[in-house]
Amino acid sequence: MFTKTFSLSCRFIRHTHFIKRSIVRTIATSIEESSKTKKPIEKRNDLLAKRYVGLEKNIWVEFVALFAEHKAINVGQGFIDYAPPNFLINFYKEALNDNNILLHQYTRGFGHRRLVEAISNVYSSYFNRKIDPLNQILITGGACPSLFNSFHGFLNPGDEAILIEPFFDCYEPMVRSAGGIPRCIALKPKPKSTKADISSSADWILDKNELESIFNSRTRLIIINTPHNPIGKVFTYEELEHIANLCQKHDVICISDEVYEWITYDKNKKHIRMATLPNMWERTLTIGSAGKTFSSTGLKLGWTIGPEHLLRSCQIVHQDCVYTCPTLSQEVIARCFEYELKRLNSPECYFNSISSEFLGKRNKLVEVLKECGMKPVVPDGGYFILADFSQIAGDKFQSDAHDMKDLKFVRYLAKEKQIGIMPVTGFYTSEHRHLADNYIRFCFAKKDETLDKAIRILRQL
Ligand code: PMP
Ligand code: GLN
Repeated sequence: MFTKTFSLSCRFIRHTHFIKRSIVRTIATSIEESSKTKKPIEKRNDLLAKRYVGLEKNIWVEFVALFAEHKAINVGQGFIDYAPPNFLINFYKEALNDNNILLHQYTRGFGHRRLVEAISNVYSSYFNRKIDPLNQILITGGACPSLFNSFHGFLNPGDEAILIEPFFDCYEPMVRSAGGIPRCIALKPKPKSTKADISSSADWILDKNELESIFNSRTRLIIINTPHNPIGKVFTYEELEHIANLCQKHDVICISDEVYEWITYDKNKKHIRMATLPNMWERTLTIGSAGKTFSSTGLKLGWTIGPEHLLRSCQIVHQDCVYTCPTLSQEVIARCFEYELKRLNSPECYFNSISSEFLGKRNKLVEVLKECGMKPVVPDGGYFILADFSQIAGDKFQSDAHDMKDLKFVRYLAKEKQIGIMPVTGFYTSEHRHLADNYIRFCFAKKDETLDKAIRILRQL
């Protein structure tokens, strides 16, 4: 019995050794073969990680370079081209001269202590609750990384994320690279408003039934943006409430991109924070941007505010990528918030005065666009005006299988007329692009001299 078992075991061992050796041989041969057939690294076109394949194009990369190449005046991209508020510059100088040499070193990973405390002190009253500075605020390298942390922190492959079109363009690639599936619903202008010479961003609405129909058991999150880029829509309480009810019914997380929170133009249409709606704090992450709040987009500093159980996922994505944001700029923004906190209710507070700074610019551009034969969509908030250019472009520019009409038109304007305006189809998925190929997007948050130059060009079109 023993000899039989022993000889069987020996045969088994020899056999497994044989299998192992042949596996090693096969792998070695296939490595050899593949290295023979593979192109040298610089000639290969399969280097990009698969999750990014299909996401190569980016409207900012293309159009900002195009504007620069043709010295086109940039009234498309969302940044102001004059000095940010004086207090910001002064706080930079003060921070640079500060004796605390540790301001030049790493700071707390989830946010510089002074900044998270300042944000908590300012925002607690706007959120109607005491925001815990250490556990409910995450400082990031801008609203973009806050969005990235949220999508990558919550989406598993196959999870659905509801996007409202048009949307700030990075939402879609971020969802896809996280393995998520975008489910899109477009804001649509009321038919009457598309015929009028001028319309309002409030005319762009969501169909309630359509929205309801895309929520399902795979829906992990929805992202909303109010005030909206590119339309300038400020969502009403009733619109937010409908979304909030669906989130609660289907147990869905809401990411609320509120970077233009302080910029609204109608005192009856003030910004409403999704997290303040009943039962929404627990399932909402609110994203803000120092660049937009203090008119200094080069800062690239932002924050995510929300309950610990949601913020934790964002912290985990952040800690292994950025770990900590620049200390000195966090110190400067902390001082800015502390300064504003003392005058929150006065008209001089930048949060209250910023909109009046832009209102005149908005109105001026609206008038000129009408005069030039475009149909502007007057925004209730934010930096941008959409304009229907179909009347002035005539039949010359048409969408085809390769390119959309608005892309052709803005390329022409940059190259031939030296004016840089953004195409709007870049804010849609390929499925719904056709809905917006008659629109271009202007940014009016520019100095008067820039706007006047742009207006001279527009009048000659
Ligand atoms: N969300 C929206 C709606 C935006 O318009 C922008 C551009 N300011 C961002 C996010 C990104 O902001 P940041 O520059 O702070 O990354
Ligand atoms: N958010 C700004 C815009 O929509 C800037 C975006 C960018 O330059 N990437 O214009």
